Amino acid sequence: MFRGLATAVLLMGIASSPAPAQTSQYVLSVGGSQLQCQSWRGERVPIRFNHSLPQVGRAYRSSDGRPVIEINPGILNQFSSPVARWWFAHECAHHELPPVANSEKQADCRAARKLRSAGLLQSADLDHFHRELRFVPASAMGHLPGPDRAEHVRKCFGATQQFAQSGRSNAQEAKPAPLPKIERQAP
Ligand SMILES: [Zn+2]
Repeated sequence: MFRGLATAVLLMGIASSPAPAQTSQYVLSVGGSQLQCQSWRGERVPIRFNHSLPQVGRAYRSSDGRPVIEINPGILNQFSSPVARWWFAHECAHHELPPVANSEKQADCRAARKLRSAGLLQSADLDHFHRELRFVPASAMGHLPGPDRAEHVRKCFGATQQFAQSGRSNAQEAKPAPLPKIERQAP
């Protein structure tokens, strides 16, 4: 569902200030910020650029069970730095959240809270989400439609005082998700 419309929209370029991304094996650099990811099991998560990925990113476990984040830099770079960091944090959240708490809404929320806690997301950045996510469609996997997704991010951002590192801070919102195939088609 995400592939056709959203990819076309994203490739048209909807952000005015691109966030050129670079990666080494475990570090993604976005707008001067060095981003890394560790799974809920304590594993460092390697980051790979995949230029043919039909979406901004995905999180999954490889056939040998290791966590991986793939990013398409050509799509990521269409977004402003705050939103690009959030996309990465969203994919990372799929690995940070234990399976029982892993969902698209939960990953969206955790990403916003984590970035705020790290000083990488400010309230003034929230307008970027409303502008840049508005054409991102919903999916059967639980992605909210773009405008609702931006609003969800805004609400989560406002509730960061209680952010916990455990990944279980909002378990009541979570739905069960299988571990091996965390994410298939949409970020
Ligand atoms: Zn996701």
